[in-house]
Amino acid sequence: MGTEFCVVCGRSDVPTVEGVCATCFAKRTTLVHVEGRPVVTICPTCGARKTGQVWDRRGASTLLSPEDLTPFLTVHPEVGIRKIHWSEGGQNPLMRDLEADVELVFRDERRTEHLRFEVKIEHRTCTECSRRSGHFYTAVIQLRAKLDDPPEKARELRERLEKQWERIMPEARKNWKEALSWKEELPEGWDIYVTDTLAARSIARLGKSRLGGTLKESATLWGRKNGQDVYRVTLCLRVPHDA
Ligand SMILES: [Zn+2]
Ligand SMILES: [Zn+2]
Repeated sequence: MGTEFCVVCGRSDVPTVEGVCATCFAKRTTLVHVEGRPVVTICPTCGARKTGQVWDRRGASTLLSPEDLTPFLTVHPEVGIRKIHWSEGGQNPLMRDLEADVELVFRDERRTEHLRFEVKIEHRTCTECSRRSGHFYTAVIQLRAKLDDPPEKARELRERLEKQWERIMPEARKNWKEALSWKEELPEGWDIYVTDTLAARSIARLGKSRLGGTLKESATLWGRKNGQDVYRVTLCLRVPHDA
C-alpha cells in the first residue's frame, strides 16, 4: 500500500483512515458515552418502568439492571459493543453512581472504555397500580369453563384459560389491551378487571368467536355520577377445551 503512515503517531504498519490509525482515532474520539444525567422512572409498587408515555416491565426488580442502563449509551456508528460490565455504588438510593466497562470492537480492534455517570431514580406509581389501589374498573370479564364440560383442577383450568386468552390477544386492539387493569385467580377461573366497558365487551366478543365460547352480559348498579346511574358490567365468557 505504499508509504501510508499515521499523521499522529507515525506508524506505517497499520491501516489508516484519512491519515489517522484506529488507535489514534479512538483516543481523540468518543466511542461511547452517556449524555447528561439520565433518569429512570420506577413504580415502587410493581417495578414497572416508564418509557415515554408508556409503562412496562411490571414485576421487574426495582434495582437498576442492564435493561435500564444500556439504552443510555450513545455509541459511535463504527463501534460494535461486545460486553458491558456494570457496577453501581453511592449512598443515595435516588441518585446512583454508575460505572461501566464497555468491551467493544472499533475497526477490528478490541478496546475497553470506562464510563462513569450518575442515574437519577424517580419513584412514581404507575397507572395500573394507581387504578388498582383505587379499585377503578367499569367491567369484569369472568373467564370460566363451559358448564357442561367435565370438571378440571383449578390450577390446570386457569392455565388452560390463560393460554387460550393469550392466543386471542394478538388480535385485540391496542386500546382494548390498555384497558385491561388487573386479574384475580379464582378456583373457577379468572376475573379480569377492565377500565373501559366497550373495550371489555370487544375483547369478550373476540374470545367468544375465536375460542368457540359463550358470552353472557349483566350489569349491576354501582353508584351515581353527575345525576346518572353508573353500572358495572360483568361479562361471563365460558370457553370450551380446544377441539
Ligand atoms: Zn496513530
Ligand atoms: Zn405499578
